[in-house]
Amino acid sequence: MRVVADAGRCIGAAVCALSVPEVFGQDPVDATVLVLDPSPPPEAHEAVRDVVNRCPSGALQVDASPASPASPSI
Ligand code: SF4
Repeated sequence: MRVVADAGRCIGAAVCALSVPEVFGQDPVDATVLVLDPSPPPEAHEAVRDVVNRCPSGALQVDASPASPASPSI
């Protein structure tokens, strides 16, 4: 799972940071969302999907595919 947040859409309601604080935080200046763990462990996926559905601004998205591997260095 990969978690993406659009801080420009976020209204700082903190549903995400209060519900899944190991994955989401809030910017200390404007209270918009910060993704603390963009590739959360499997045990957090259900909670992340739930909060994505409850976000009032639609600022959160998840991609079910595993995190992209690092690009090989040549
Ligand atoms: S729940 Fe949505 S609107 Fe609220 S802080 Fe998180 S991303 Fe922003």
